[in-house]
Amino acid sequence: MTDASPQGPIKLLVLKGDGIGPEITDATLRVLEAVDAIFGFGFSYDFLPIGFEALEREGTTFPARIIEAVPDFDGLILGPVSHNDYPPPEKGGLNPSGQLRKRLDLYANIRPALSRPGFAPRCGSPLDLVIVRENTEGFYADRSLFLGSGEFMPTPDLAMSFRKITRTGSTRIAAAAFEMARRRPRRKVTAVHKANVLRVCDGLFLDCVREVARGYPEVEYEERIVDAMAALLVRDASQFDVVVTTNMFGDILSDLASELSGSLGLAASLNCGTDTAVAQAQHGSAPDIAGRDLANPSSLIGSAAMLLGWLGDRRRDPQLIEAAALIDRALTRVIGVPEHRTSDLGGTTGTRAFAELVADAARALAQAGA
Ligand code: NAD
Repeated sequence: MTDASPQGPIKLLVLKGDGIGPEITDATLRVLEAVDAIFGFGFSYDFLPIGFEALEREGTTFPARIIEAVPDFDGLILGPVSHNDYPPPEKGGLNPSGQLRKRLDLYANIRPALSRPGFAPRCGSPLDLVIVRENTEGFYADRSLFLGSGEFMPTPDLAMSFRKITRTGSTRIAAAAFEMARRRPRRKVTAVHKANVLRVCDGLFLDCVREVARGYPEVEYEERIVDAMAALLVRDASQFDVVVTTNMFGDILSDLASELSGSLGLAASLNCGTDTAVAQAQHGSAPDIAGRDLANPSSLIGSAAMLLGWLGDRRRDPQLIEAAALIDRALTRVIGVPEHRTSDLGGTTGTRAFAELVADAARALAQAGA
């Protein structure tokens, strides 16, 4: 395991973010360094400030040079941000996450929820599902219009939000879901919608998913209304494999599914476009535990593993795919030991020590050829 990736070294852009962002990003880099030492990929990292650090230094939470820099990198690692506390856009408060998704056209947000052996999920059944969430339209005010905000206030007493659903957006997210399901053992897609009320928008979304489904006869297909879906996840999440849905439903259901798997701190995710991918935890900046070495970094470590897997697919590099799987096995091994868990999982291990344990586990597993 010593050859660099066939298409040369891997350059990653790291944006640490706010709150627990710097802690879980540093922890993730520790694990990537360990994996790099095992495989010899030659990872290199550049860092740019975002969030409150950038606001203080550059007057904006999302400096323009970030988007300009992206083509120089093979992928990005994005820490969570405190955008709820940012000033309005005219005072520099831009949501880095929304900006990256919209401007890089990262249309697919892949959000797995996986219960790990040795750690009981918070619901009746084990989970191994992936929520494939549309990421560039829907009910998100910073994404749904070319120019301006999708929220407006015609009078002081009337506020309105605009929801955008397109055939292109719905078809490509459905295709991403079916392609993923085709490669998973259970080969099942569940489309989640609210077409009983939002007949036009969710009707268009469902039409597109059904059309894509017809091209995948080997994949089982079903539909669920979003409110029932929330209940079914709690009742028996084991019946779901790949779940495809619109932006906001996916955002909400994925936090639910991840918490059911054990904790939001386990919640990995990848934002993918055609040319770029951004590893980003599902959760926010957790200001309630920030700066106290309490955060569970599994979410961002798992997200970075997903990025390596995505790069491995693109570069046709089995070593990168193996590195992603190795990180995942190392996470499972560490989480399986009660005293190695972080406090969200009932343990006492700190963020930094947890990352060291995952790095040690990766080295041990690689040495044992496991
Ligand atoms: P949150 O996701 O930050 O936290 C919700 C709960 O989960 C908190 O109790 C927190 O301590 C816990 N938690 C989250 N991540 C954890 C981890 N890795 N380990 C252990 N516990 C963890 O949600 P919030 O408190 O509603 O939002 C805080 C800020 O984050 C807000 O400004 C919000 O706008 C922002 N936010 C950012 C993103 C993002 O960067 N993608 C996503 C959601 C929310």
